[in-house]
Amino acid sequence: MDSISIKEILSTAPKRQQVTVNGWVKTFRSNRFIALNDGSTIHNVQCVVDFEQFDEDLLKQIASGAALKVTGTLVESQGRGQSVEIQANDIFVHGPADPETYPIQPKKHSMEFLREKAHLRIRTNTFAAVMRVRSALSFAVHKYFTDNGFYYFHAPIITGSDAEGAGEMFRVTTLDCKNPPLTEDGEVDHKEDFFGKETNLTVSGQLEAEAYAMGLGKVYTFGPTFRAENSNTSRHLAEFWMIEPEMAFYDLNANMDLAEDFIKGVLSYVLENCADDLAFLEKRLLDEEKTKPQAERSEMALIEKLKFIVDNNFKRVTYTEAIDILRNSKPNKKKKFQYVIDEWGADLQSEHERFLVEKHFKCPVILFDYPAKIKAFYMRLNEDGKTVRAMDILFPGIGEIVGGSQREERLDVLREKMAELDIPEEELWWYLDLRKFGTAVHSGFGLGFERLVLFATGMGNIRDVIPFPRTPQNAEF
Ligand code: ATP
Ligand code: MN
Repeated sequence: MDSISIKEILSTAPKRQQVTVNGWVKTFRSNRFIALNDGSTIHNVQCVVDFEQFDEDLLKQIASGAALKVTGTLVESQGRGQSVEIQANDIFVHGPADPETYPIQPKKHSMEFLREKAHLRIRTNTFAAVMRVRSALSFAVHKYFTDNGFYYFHAPIITGSDAEGAGEMFRVTTLDCKNPPLTEDGEVDHKEDFFGKETNLTVSGQLEAEAYAMGLGKVYTFGPTFRAENSNTSRHLAEFWMIEPEMAFYDLNANMDLAEDFIKGVLSYVLENCADDLAFLEKRLLDEEKTKPQAERSEMALIEKLKFIVDNNFKRVTYTEAIDILRNSKPNKKKKFQYVIDEWGADLQSEHERFLVEKHFKCPVILFDYPAKIKAFYMRLNEDGKTVRAMDILFPGIGEIVGGSQREERLDVLREKMAELDIPEEELWWYLDLRKFGTAVHSGFGLGFERLVLFATGMGNIRDVIPFPRTPQNAEF
């Protein structure tokens, strides 16, 4: 390559040297100033064009969205807000963009509009900043775990087992939908299907990660998971990326310590490495909040909020304590909650989680020791016989960001639980084997990567922190 990135150019000392950059035009002002961006940084490089030096047909092709190669002299900038600029002496148009039809014009577009142009929205400052932060965060995830002695484990995407209970999985099949083979009872005969059994896209890699933790010690998955739940919210996707560490010999306390340290670690990483993008996103958020009523504005700006998380302990509270707080809370007494809390055992809705985090504690909260009845079968039963060693981490503006637990390692207790819930042992024979051979205390959690990106970027909708979102009725691109 004879060209260098705009990020590099912007930190190069101008000595009237010849440089070449490639990028897309953000704006072209007064037939003279091209703001060029190549995605390497939020900042553009200004290319100054002497229009007498170029032919008119070429200049006509320079409009927002066009891809250019610009060669010129790197000089100290005359304008404000930039250190260097390029005095263009050669411009090559890789590809023009017709201003009549190019949808991404240099003005504010709504997020809804941009979702319909998901293939082009990465050309906006906001999406480029979000996706650079997303990339940095995923690197930070691998770095954190590698630095802490974990092995990266690839859980299968197609699964024959259902970790969380049926009803919300995507079926994987090669059978003819119109004319599937049937059993004598008239059911679809999955024996004739590709795998010889019913299979689905995974909702979680946890069960398989447990098997690997019981040999490698500490493992983590970081891959796509799929949920066919019809929750059309700003916090749910049908396809999302989940981070699931699983650790042998960790109890629930060690699990909570790890989760807290992990979140702080990856957020510190982006604070250190994505300063420019975060500053841009912070300003964007402040501008957006100006349009909201005072009561809905957040008390902290984005970077301050991230630093607050990194510098303060998460509050650890049992489910039972949380229920007491909620029961006696104003919105509960005044019946402002959609679901009023009156009894121990109630499942917490996002309105309750957000009350605890945003109004009551005003910091991230780890709730633990939940009623067994509202949690999954594999969570370890406490001595009281009615709560399990589960923990959820609740974040301001997000609600649940992590769900985890200490796993039931006792064969007899696990069997009893599965029988109670009508989970057939044949389906999870291998999972039970783990309790027969060298079983041990172990724990893990699942963190929805997009919820983390939402938090780190201050974006409002989970559809805007993943490149091509999949949600009910939407799988374009
Ligand atoms: P919620 O109650 O918010 O639907 P959940 O209890 O179903 O979450 P878990 O099954 O514990 O979540 O999954 C672990 C983590 O995965 C959650 O804490 C969350 O961060 C993330 N997550 C769960 N479902 C989704 C989804 N549909 N889209 C994006 N992230 C999700
Ligand atoms: Mn869910």
